[in-house]
Amino acid sequence: MTQIKQLVLIAEDEESICSFISAILEANNFKVIKTAKGGEVVALTASHCPDLILLDLGLPDMDGVEVLKAIRAWTDTPVIVVSARVHEREKVEALDLGADDYITKPFGTGELLARIRTAMRHGRGNANETRGTMDTFAVGDLSIDYEKRRVFVAGKEVRLTPIEYKILVLLSTHVGKVLTHDFIIKKIWGPYTNEIQSLRVNMANIRRKLRVNPAEPNYIVTEVGVGYRMLEEPETDDV
Ligand code: CA
Repeated sequence: MTQIKQLVLIAEDEESICSFISAILEANNFKVIKTAKGGEVVALTASHCPDLILLDLGLPDMDGVEVLKAIRAWTDTPVIVVSARVHEREKVEALDLGADDYITKPFGTGELLARIRTAMRHGRGNANETRGTMDTFAVGDLSIDYEKRRVFVAGKEVRLTPIEYKILVLLSTHVGKVLTHDFIIKKIWGPYTNEIQSLRVNMANIRRKLRVNPAEPNYIVTEVGVGYRMLEEPETDDV
């Protein structure tokens, strides 16, 4: 039986990184097409219909953010932004413009593949759709009953405030994906405020409440300068 391979478009001008990524992907049963030019990304996406785009933000001919805007003008193909540490600001901007995730150079094989799989899964059914058909969420010892609006860790009920609950639901319906501060704030408090401080306080409370016992794994990680991500596989501290 031959499985139909999924196609990844790599837009990256650094030769060594490009061949590193394509070697990993080909070894893991993906097909790849490559370009070093931002100006070719849209045309290649239209002609090859990739299942995912890996977009380097620092391409020589065109601003990565502009490339992303051009892609998002007509397609929902998952995009993972590949950025160097110097492009911290663009990274957040890219996420807010509809990139599905980001990965910072240098990155390892496991991290790259995990990000790709998550983004492809989200690409197939959007989070709202998934939520509509699911009435519970479970990862590790954490479970959320969306129907009854109740949260449990290892069978024990967790008491959250309405805002804390809303934030947790938002993260859980995008599990595996990083949500930017702006995205969360707009979804919870609306577009006209900047509740970054409230977000931080609420998030700290949520994490404390989910982790009554320090042996409990960590369900939510902070992406410094970017936002928060709920993990598909919770981490314990000693990792
Ligand atoms: Ca580059």
